[in-house]
Amino acid sequence: MRWSKFYLFTSREIPQDAEVISHQLMAKAGMIRKVAAGIYSYLPLGWRSLTKMMAIVREEMNSAGAIELSMPSVQPAELWQESGRWSLYGKELLRIKDRHEREFCFGPTHEEVVTDIVRRDVKSYRQLPLTLYQIQNKFRDEIRPRFGLMRGREFMMKDAYSFHTDAESLGEVYESMRLAYCRIFERCGLEYSMVEADTGAIGGSASHEFMVLAKTGESAVVSCDRCDYAANVEKAEARGLPVTSTEEPRALSEESTPGATSVEDVARLLDIPTSKVVKTLIYKTDQGLIGIAIRGDREVNEIKLANYLGVNELALANEESVVETSGAPIGFAGPIGLAKDLRLIGDESVRKLTNFACGANRQDFHFTNGNWGRDVDLAEWADVLLVTDGDLCPHCDGRLSLARGIEVGHIFMLGCKYSEVMGCTFTNDRGLPEPMTMGCYGLGIGRTVAAAIEQNHDGDGIIWPLPLAPFQFQVISLNPDDSAVAAASDSLYEELLGDGLDVFYDDRDARPGVKFKDADLIGTPLRVVLGRRSLADGLVEISMRRDREKLLIPVGDAVAKLKELYAAEGP
Ligand code: ATP
Ligand code: MG
Repeated sequence: MRWSKFYLFTSREIPQDAEVISHQLMAKAGMIRKVAAGIYSYLPLGWRSLTKMMAIVREEMNSAGAIELSMPSVQPAELWQESGRWSLYGKELLRIKDRHEREFCFGPTHEEVVTDIVRRDVKSYRQLPLTLYQIQNKFRDEIRPRFGLMRGREFMMKDAYSFHTDAESLGEVYESMRLAYCRIFERCGLEYSMVEADTGAIGGSASHEFMVLAKTGESAVVSCDRCDYAANVEKAEARGLPVTSTEEPRALSEESTPGATSVEDVARLLDIPTSKVVKTLIYKTDQGLIGIAIRGDREVNEIKLANYLGVNELALANEESVVETSGAPIGFAGPIGLAKDLRLIGDESVRKLTNFACGANRQDFHFTNGNWGRDVDLAEWADVLLVTDGDLCPHCDGRLSLARGIEVGHIFMLGCKYSEVMGCTFTNDRGLPEPMTMGCYGLGIGRTVAAAIEQNHDGDGIIWPLPLAPFQFQVISLNPDDSAVAAASDSLYEELLGDGLDVFYDDRDARPGVKFKDADLIGTPLRVVLGRRSLADGLVEISMRRDREKLLIPVGDAVAKLKELYAAEGP
C-alpha cells in the first residue's frame, strides 16, 4: 500500500480524554476516531490490526474445533426475560423499543440467543459436545467508558459457547479453550497470566481470566511467590491474618471517643494500632440489612460478600438505617450490644483478635478490650476480606503480591444455569431428557490490541509485535522528487509486494523528519530507508522498530535481508 493512496492521517496532538498510552498512540497514529463516548470508528490503519487479531482468533478457535456463526446485535426482551436477566442485568444493558413499542436490547453478550438456537436444533447426546463462536460487536452502557478501545461501550468481542452432556465433557472443552487462549496471546506477543476469577453477572461455577500485566490495568490480581496460585482480587481467598500477640483478656471498658468516626481517629485516641479495631459496617441488600465485622485496617471485598450472601444488590446502608440498627450515627457501630435481629457476620480477619476496640453503639463512645465469647458471640463467620500485598497464600506458605492487569479474556464454566431456565435439553443415552451443560468464552478484540500497545511502545510510538502490526514492512523514500530515489524505492516496494509481503510505502512528498517521526509512531516492525546520499553509493538503510539499529546494505540485498530479519522475528 502506498501512503499517497491510503487513508492515514497521523497527528501530534493527544486527545484530551486519552489517559493511557495505548489510547494516545492509537489516536495519534490515526487508527481510531471517537464518535461518542466509548464509541469509535476503526480507521483503516486500526482496522488492519483488528483484522489481524481476528484472523489469529479465528485460526485458533477453528483449530480448537469451534464453529463460527454470527448472531444479531439487537435481541428481543423475551429471551432475556426467559433467562431472568432482563431484570437482573443493570444499566449496562441498553434497552430499546421498536416502532411497535416492543422491547429489545443491544446485546452485551449472547448466552440467551445461542441457547435459543441450540435448543431448537440439538436433540440427542450424539450431537454433543459442540462449540459455536462469533466475532461481533457488543454494547454495554459502561458507567465510565475510557481508555479508548480498552473500555468502550460498543466493542468487538469473540464470544464462544459450548454445549455438553455433562461436566466432564465441559472440563475437556474448557481445557482446550484455555490452551487456545494461551496460543492466541502468545502469538500476539503478550506477557499474560491466567487467574481465578469471579463469575459475575454471567454466572456459573468456575471461571478464569487472562490478564495482561500493565501498570494502567483496571483489574488487580494477586499471585503467590511460591506456588502457582493467582486470582483476581475480586475472587482471591484470604487465609486468616497472622495474629502476633497472645494477650490475656482484660476487662471490657467503655471509652469516650468524641467525634471519632473513622478507624484512624479511634486508634489515635485510644493509642492502639488500627489492626486492633473491629470495624463494623452495615450493608443494605435485597435480603435486608446485614452487618460485617472486619479488621480496622482492612477492607471488605463486596463481590465476595455479595456472592457469599447470594444477593444481587449490596451497598453501604444510609445514615438512617445505621442509626436504626446501632442506635448511633455512622462510625459508632460495634458487635457488642448491636441490634439482636441484625444478621452480623464476622470476617475471619477478626476471629482471633483479643482485647479489640469497637464501636459501643452509642454516639462518641467505643469499647476497648472486647473479647469474643465473653462479651459477644457471633453465630456466623465468613471470608469477605479484600486480599492485599503481603497476605498469606491460601494454598501454601508463600506470600501474595498484588499487580495490575488488563483483562483480555474470560472463560466460564456455566453449568446448567441457562439451559435449565431456557429448556435447552437433550435426550441422554437412556432416552431421558437432561439440560445441557454449558461453557462460555469471551475475548476482547480491541482491548487485546490496545493491551499489546500498552506492553510494546516507547517515547516515540508503537512497537508492534509482528502479528498485530497494521503493516509488517515499511519502505521509506526520503527524496521522492529525486527520480533515481523514486525509481529505486518503487522497484523495491514492487518487489516486496510481489513476494506477497505486507508492505507500506511512504511515498509522500514530505520532509524526512516527518517520515521518520511517523514511521516511529505507527510502529511498523521492519523498515527500509532509501535516501539520495546512501543510494549514490548503492546502499539502503534497514532497521527494526524495536531498537532502530541501522544496517547499511547494498540495495540489491535489501529484500533478502528484510526476509531474513522477518524470519528471525516471525512466529
Ligand atoms: P470488565 O470486568 O473489564 O468489565 P467483563 O468481566 O465485563 O470485563 P466479560 O463479560 O468477561 O467482561 O467479557 C469478555 C471480554 O470482553 C473481556 O475479557 C474483555 O476482553 C472484553 N470486554 C469486556 N468489556 C469491554 C469493554 N467495555 N470494552 C472493551 N472490551 C471489553
Ligand atoms: Mg470478566
